[in-house]
Amino acid sequence: MGRIYNFSAGPAVLPEEVLKEAQEEMLDYRGCGMSVMEMSHRSKAFEQIITEAEQDIRDLLHISEEYEVLFLQGGASTQFAMIPMNLMKNKKAEYIITGQWAKKAFKEACIYGDARAIASSEDKTFSYIPDCSNLPIREDADYVYICENNTIYGTKFKTLPNTNGKPLVADVSSCFLSEPMEVEKYGLIYGGAQKNIGPAGVVIVIIRKDLISEEPLTGTPTMLRYKIHADAKSLYNTPPAYGIYICGKVFKWLKNIGGLEIIQKKNEEKAKLLYEFLDQSRLFKGTVRKEDRSLMNVPFVTGDKELDAKFVKEAKEAGLENLKGHRTVGGMRASIYNAMPKEGVEKLVEFMENFEKVNR
Ligand code: PMP
Repeated sequence: MGRIYNFSAGPAVLPEEVLKEAQEEMLDYRGCGMSVMEMSHRSKAFEQIITEAEQDIRDLLHISEEYEVLFLQGGASTQFAMIPMNLMKNKKAEYIITGQWAKKAFKEACIYGDARAIASSEDKTFSYIPDCSNLPIREDADYVYICENNTIYGTKFKTLPNTNGKPLVADVSSCFLSEPMEVEKYGLIYGGAQKNIGPAGVVIVIIRKDLISEEPLTGTPTMLRYKIHADAKSLYNTPPAYGIYICGKVFKWLKNIGGLEIIQKKNEEKAKLLYEFLDQSRLFKGTVRKEDRSLMNVPFVTGDKELDAKFVKEAKEAGLENLKGHRTVGGMRASIYNAMPKEGVEKLVEFMENFEKVNR
């Protein structure tokens, strides 16, 4: 088989078991005589797929009945607008800027109200998470927004900000289901599926029911109202049905391996391999403050652009693909999501060791 180790930041590696199962069910889904791609989203078979998917993610994250789980479209970027449109009752929101995705969300919110950036790590190229223990949050702020794992820069909030009781809204696109979460600490959690969960085209929103507004901002399109989707159980219109089906399989894969405590352990082991190597390397250097390091996205550099390019090229030839850093940062980035096997990271470290010997 010609599968490589895929370190892409997203769309990203999916569990092989899931892909094989989908392959087996491709032509005839469980006796339906058709694939999930071809069936009505109102059919019994699909109803079961989406109901089970919702229940499985609820089980994995221990999501209570106080929260709705929505399977939506438009990618994570549509949430940049949907959140202010639905949550900005006082038209005031506080944003913590820890990277390009938080910044984009902030800029989008500025279209709809008085969004303020109350903390930022831009002064050091987003290589750390700012202190969020005592933020200047307005009394009438509607929410506080974070990007919990910064895909491009490889930082992660290890402690959630003190929001002074305001709802916390978090983009978890690149750390979704990589470890347990205390859902009740958030007002809204969302993430695009295409990193840890499934194919691009699905975005999952977990929203506390009291935040689902009857009356979003004037002019909010029907499709961008959480209430519409919550009332219709994510079937207001044709959902990204095949994507939801794959997400459901990934949820079952996670349950089968023992849930989020187990996947967290595996992710910690994988990340440790790479970070320990980086910390002793005399050629490669991690770019993130140690205490803020992400378990999912690991950026590193040699300090020499040409050598970086050589590394990426030779790694690809060795079956280790998509290691080029984001275009705004340069260097390298290894995304080691849930479905990246430990052997993939071991192979990468071995390759880096050999590269270092030859190129130092
Ligand atoms: N948030 C984060 C943290 C991301 O990593 C990304 C995409 N890489 C996005 C938002 C944007 O996602 P989408 O392309 O689904 O709009």
